[in-house]
Amino acid sequence: MNSKHRPDTQIVHTGSRPEEQQGVMNPPVYRASTVTFPTVNAMNEAEANRFDTVFYGLYGTPTTFAYEEAIAELEGGYRSVTVASGLAAIAVALMAYLKAGDHLLMVDSAYGPTRKFCDNILNRCGIETTYYDPLVGGAIGDIIRPETKVIFTESPGSLTFEVQDLPAISEAACNQDIKVMLDNTWSAGFYLKPFEVGVDISIQATTKYLAGHADVMLGHITAKSEEDWLTVKTAAGLMGHGGEPDNCYLGLRGMRTLSVRLERHQENAMKLANWLAARPEVDTILHPAFSQCPGHEIWQRDFTGASGLFSIILRNYSRERVNAMLDGMDLFALGYSWGGFESLIIPFDPRGSRSATKWNAAGPALRLHAGQEDPDDLIADLERGFDRLNDKV
Ligand SMILES: *Cc1c(COP(=O)(O)O)cnc(C)c1O
Repeated sequence: MNSKHRPDTQIVHTGSRPEEQQGVMNPPVYRASTVTFPTVNAMNEAEANRFDTVFYGLYGTPTTFAYEEAIAELEGGYRSVTVASGLAAIAVALMAYLKAGDHLLMVDSAYGPTRKFCDNILNRCGIETTYYDPLVGGAIGDIIRPETKVIFTESPGSLTFEVQDLPAISEAACNQDIKVMLDNTWSAGFYLKPFEVGVDISIQATTKYLAGHADVMLGHITAKSEEDWLTVKTAAGLMGHGGEPDNCYLGLRGMRTLSVRLERHQENAMKLANWLAARPEVDTILHPAFSQCPGHEIWQRDFTGASGLFSIILRNYSRERVNAMLDGMDLFALGYSWGGFESLIIPFDPRGSRSATKWNAAGPALRLHAGQEDPDDLIADLERGFDRLNDKV
């Protein structure tokens, strides 16, 4: 693909080679474990090139290669590696670079299971994790140690929405043999181009916006350089991680409509957030496009848009009242994950999963995913929810 094309054009055409597939537009699903060869020589040659040719199912088939090519182009990186989930992508990326005695700087607002991976698996491998304030910016230089090998970022944090100063962080890390990794799931690689802000390794839960239909588990890791891609791909292979072809097919299919879906998610989320901001029940809007959101100016500088996921902090309501609100929702479903066509809402309390920063919110917090329903119906659903919150029904 011609990377001079604009993003909307890129995502429609990338990874597609109809001329190699009898004219069929979408790369078909090649399922494989065994791949056979006509001669021993051909077999040896394929093994030597196992990351680039079809050698064994785990290392890739034409379907997974097509998906990886498209993702790398979307994110503007050298090449991608696909694995079975977003969490697997995070684990593989960290394991690819860290060994006993190394030190990891992990953002305090990280996705919960990322934190659990550090505390339960990396910890057991003799890798020490220090959690840092998501708003640290260039002052991260003060906590870098000689043993620090990875700085992991997630921007914005997917519960509390602090936007991180990635150029300042990567500036502090440069020339020090430290990899800067980003969990880029919120922007879908569409509203933030990770390698333009100094990131070395970009990770996404394809599960969310890329797949987009609440029915796929998939993750990917995109590397900025050939060397980094080889490091990640080798680690994934050694640990038995590979992308599943049916899901890669769905991920690539989802990418074709990513731009129009995100536009609707963005528009609906802005309508909901604006409506919520004017409500007496709401104390704070944690949406990067709102000036109350920590790091809002950085979002304005580095991102070209916002997706549909944001949080609100309520005034000081009891858990019973919040539960009464959430139990009766009509359109907003209660459920984890996000990025699908449907609206979701969850209560959360970050107090148990923070160590570098304190969470001093006025009241309980809710995370909303604005789906693609009519925003007026979503607002009416929230309005009835607030009646239950206020014990008015
Ligand atoms: C969901 C999520 C993940 C993990 O993705 P799975 O595919 O569910 O394993 C990682 N990071 C963020 C920010 C997420 O929201």
